[in-house]
Amino acid sequence: MSFAEYPQLVIFLSIYVFVVGIFGGSFLSVVGIRLPRGMSIVHPRSHCDACGRPLAFYELIPIFSYGVMRGACRTCGVRIPARYIIFEVLAGALALYTLWHEPTWSLRISWWLLWSLLLVTSQTDLEAMIVPNVISYPSAALFLMISVVLHTRTISSAIMGMAVGFLLIAGIHILSKGKMGLGDAKLYLSIGAVLGPYETLFSLIAASMLGTVIGYTLRYLGRLKPRQAIPFVPFISGGVLLTSLIGKLVINWYFHLLHVPLQ
Ligand SMILES: [Zn+2]
Repeated sequence: MSFAEYPQLVIFLSIYVFVVGIFGGSFLSVVGIRLPRGMSIVHPRSHCDACGRPLAFYELIPIFSYGVMRGACRTCGVRIPARYIIFEVLAGALALYTLWHEPTWSLRISWWLLWSLLLVTSQTDLEAMIVPNVISYPSAALFLMISVVLHTRTISSAIMGMAVGFLLIAGIHILSKGKMGLGDAKLYLSIGAVLGPYETLFSLIAASMLGTVIGYTLRYLGRLKPRQAIPFVPFISGGVLLTSLIGKLVINWYFHLLHVPLQ
């Protein structure tokens, strides 16, 4: 399908994907917050964390409800973390970005699922500094299967990506005496299956650089104690986004450099 031939369809599809992305992000946010607490995803109904009051339907509409409630619970006045609305907007933006950026539906599906995984695990990591095994193991199997079934990647490339991601982080985990969690390594099984070995490596380097720059900035600003650990999944997600944006370009450029015969 060529987008350029159907401008109305493109506008409709873009709005649809953005809105679905926002609602999806809102749901993934709830999953990411409830999972580490051992709560069910569907029960109890969404409620204020501070006073326990169940939320009315109009308080559950992403972004809109944040505006209506002016960022605080109407009953107890406790502020709703800005992180929730940032997640919703981000999810919508990533859904739209993927629609435009990826050339085939197979790749779009695979990336939408990967962003969903990264949004949930960013939330669990921010909430409780964990990447739950109940998410990372089934995801790894799912993404390997997707690569094969949707032909987004050869099976050997997917498995090599998984191995590179897992082994590098597991290595850092051992060298850093556990400062880098094994949960991140298990998460990289899924990322590796989507990205393949070279882009996996690129995304890890990008994530480390982002983590270093932002970590030092937060420490400098006094927002972080000297030895305080920071959740790494948001940085991994940032690294994956950078990979999607410029990974292929940088990798091709690098290999081009290597292939230039030495004088
Ligand atoms: Zn409340």
